[in-house]
Amino acid sequence: MDSPATDLYSLTRPELRALVESWRFSPDHAARIWKYLYLGLAGSFGEMPEVPARVRSRLAAETRIGTLSARLETGSSDGFTRKFLLGLAGGEAIETVLMRFAGRATACVSSQAGCAMGCVFCATGQMGFRRHLFAGEIVSQVVHAARALRSAPEPRRLRNVVFMGMGEPLHNYGAVMRAVDILRDPSGLGFGAQRITLSTVGVVPGIRRMADEARPIHLAVSLHSADQAERARLVPAARKWPLDELMDACRYFCAALGRRIFFEWTLIDGRNDTADHAHAVGRLIRELPAQVNLIPLNPTAGYDGAPSRSDAARRFQRILADGYGLPSTVRQRRGIDIGAGCGQLAAPG
Ligand code: SF4
Repeated sequence: MDSPATDLYSLTRPELRALVESWRFSPDHAARIWKYLYLGLAGSFGEMPEVPARVRSRLAAETRIGTLSARLETGSSDGFTRKFLLGLAGGEAIETVLMRFAGRATACVSSQAGCAMGCVFCATGQMGFRRHLFAGEIVSQVVHAARALRSAPEPRRLRNVVFMGMGEPLHNYGAVMRAVDILRDPSGLGFGAQRITLSTVGVVPGIRRMADEARPIHLAVSLHSADQAERARLVPAARKWPLDELMDACRYFCAALGRRIFFEWTLIDGRNDTADHAHAVGRLIRELPAQVNLIPLNPTAGYDGAPSRSDAARRFQRILADGYGLPSTVRQRRGIDIGAGCGQLAAPG
């Protein structure tokens, strides 16, 4: 059997350079290959004309440009959202979403096939955990989205990446952070500190590690309830990392990095959207430099809750702002008709 080829998307720039030098080729070739990969978005070695043929044939023999296979692409009826079903080596599949807003485009990437966290309202949680993604499989999703934008109406450039697709990114810490390093490289895709957001259900050791390593990306914590017992019913991972430990970790993160934190709150009609709920979260996070993202529940087959009405969302916002000085936004609902909204991603293996 052939030895597995190295996925070029899994390598940092120094690692690519070391690989090319190990073949006794000039590091200048590595710099050119990197630019073709991330500035030219090359999908084949034939699209690298300034790389000498002998280098390209070595690349073709020992490496690959990505391992994902495009299986299906769907577009929302309003034209703003596209969802990609991408096959992984080994047979599993993931979904990646590309969203266009006025003047900006965002890729929502997956970090795992399935998820072990089991949030009750989430289609990915309902399918269970299949496997972690490799860093190259994460980077490849971003490149796939960037390529798709080239043939789309404006905007053509990908501005933001959010780890809010399938999986819990802090449950796959090493691969996710390696991917972040590759995405941030200023000679390549060059996503700056404000352009990458990682969303976690509250994996406390991962939050603390991000703080200790001074990871230069935004952190969003999915809260959904300010009461430990109720939160544990919605987010089973809360039994392992209770609310008081989670809030300690959030304080630690903000203090260590001097940065604000985002809290996400899925608004479920009658379950966590009353005035009392808004006051409870206000009291819980008022001491932190925080912003709240309110996300009206999106439908999934395995959960029968309904999204909050818009007047309940507005009341929630008003209480946060007037009572606690907390800014908040209500997330625009995008791609619901193609199952591309928050909590809706799932992929058959
Ligand atoms: S919401 Fe996120 S952490 Fe929870 S089950 Fe879904 S993918 Fe996993």
